[in-house]
Amino acid sequence: MAYDYDLFVIGGGSGGVRAARVASATGAKVALAEDDRYGGTCVIRGCVPKKLMVFASEFSNLPDEARAYGWDMSLGDFDWCGFRDRLHGELDRLEGVYRSLLSNSGVTMYDARAQLKDPNTVTLSTGEEVTAKHILVATGGHPVRPEIPNAHLGIVSDDLFHLEALPKSMLIVGGGYIACEFACVMAGLGVDVTLYYRGAQILRGFDEEARGIIAEGMSEKGIDLHFGTNIVDMAPASEDHSASGALTSSDASMGAPANEPETRDISKDHDGPIWVKATNGKEAVFDKVLFATGRAPNTQDMGLEEIGVELGRGGEIVVDDYSQTAVPSVYAIGDVTNRVNLTPVAIREGMAFVETVFKDNPTPVDHKLIPSAVFTQPEFGTVGLTEDEAREQEPVHVYCTSFRPMRTAFAGQPYRVLMKLVVSRDTDRVLGCHIVAPGAGEMIQLAGVAIKMGATKADFDRTVAVHPTMSEEIVTMRDPMRTG
Ligand code: NDP
Repeated sequence: MAYDYDLFVIGGGSGGVRAARVASATGAKVALAEDDRYGGTCVIRGCVPKKLMVFASEFSNLPDEARAYGWDMSLGDFDWCGFRDRLHGELDRLEGVYRSLLSNSGVTMYDARAQLKDPNTVTLSTGEEVTAKHILVATGGHPVRPEIPNAHLGIVSDDLFHLEALPKSMLIVGGGYIACEFACVMAGLGVDVTLYYRGAQILRGFDEEARGIIAEGMSEKGIDLHFGTNIVDMAPASEDHSASGALTSSDASMGAPANEPETRDISKDHDGPIWVKATNGKEAVFDKVLFATGRAPNTQDMGLEEIGVELGRGGEIVVDDYSQTAVPSVYAIGDVTNRVNLTPVAIREGMAFVETVFKDNPTPVDHKLIPSAVFTQPEFGTVGLTEDEAREQEPVHVYCTSFRPMRTAFAGQPYRVLMKLVVSRDTDRVLGCHIVAPGAGEMIQLAGVAIKMGATKADFDRTVAVHPTMSEEIVTMRDPMRTG
């Protein structure tokens, strides 16, 4: 049967765009549909604007440091609106780049929402219907709010880049990547940040020791961390409530908010202060509440299950090692499959899909030893097993050092960095590397190459240190701190 296209990609984010371009370069006839902005989460409402906000926020540390180094410098005002407009100018430019990459690659673009009608047919919101031999779903995910009363009063990460003004105070709910990164960004921009995390320590799943040092650094920055705490109720603040950001007494003397949740008449676009009640009974008022409570795959109303594509419990598309779904002509990559939700992984999955389907070279996606960074302040770079994971697997030596780095110690600042290697006792291979330090994301990229190649501790030891740097410690730790 003749199809309109060899490949139809649904979703113009990092994974979808790369797969479409690379497939087109093999001579395949390719189309792509995107119903929002090209570039997807990473470029439009994720990694890129977030990293620019990280840069913006880091300048606030400079005057204190600079003064210790002899400069007469003071912190001026931060012009949020000026920065935000420049930010959006940059995102517009990048979206244009994505569009031209696609058109220069010969990919037909549909600015429309796509649904699957059958295993080889896509219907578009424009009313068009097209057929394709293969369909690739790369629709990403979206932030989710928890199920608590009036959760719509809180914003999600997508909204942060569009704020009309910086709030004076912000409550961030969650303890994952987004919560911790934006807590640091907002604090750096001068916002009074409180974070409620329901667990005992932020960044669950990462190395325990690293989590501790990051939490310590966040507290040093003035972020008010509350563990074992969640919101149970929220509402527009009334005049009875305390000043912005201030925790009020949990005792009954504060009484209930003016209106009870069931009867409150709340406008969907309420923009004023928000009253919250926490699980520990404390009440407080914040200018903004940010829910960084996870993301869900974009699989709703796409006709996926109707044509036989299997979805997991969280709505993610279930795929095999080659990103193929239960329907042989339909593949899926990126966050919509909820494997490892990182941009470079989606891109790898897209490339492996093209190798498999268009180059006759079946290529499974390698999800092992993926280096990644959390752009907290201090920054965190990590690759491989945590100490606990490694101990469960086999006997290990743990090499670890934590110290105040030269640059900030000179300025009298308290921040500590962490350099840590988890090493197999049997093979001497480095199983995990965890770095908390300024620039840790850059460092872990390079350590990741060595570790992916199977480097042993002896390989690290015979590498000469670069002096004076923070990262030289990673090749000079001689004796294990712990063995287990
Ligand atoms: P995460 O899954 O990392 O974190 C979600 C957080 O919200 C967890 O702390 C979770 O707690 C908490 N949570 C979930 N449900 C509730 C609830 N009902 N009430 C209170 N707290 C809740 O999601 P993020 O949104 O932070 O990030 C999504 C993904 O995006 C990440 O997993 C990552 O893959 C990617 N990302 C990567 C970045 C990077 O590479 N630097 C940056 C940003 C995002 P608990 O731990 O108890 O489950």
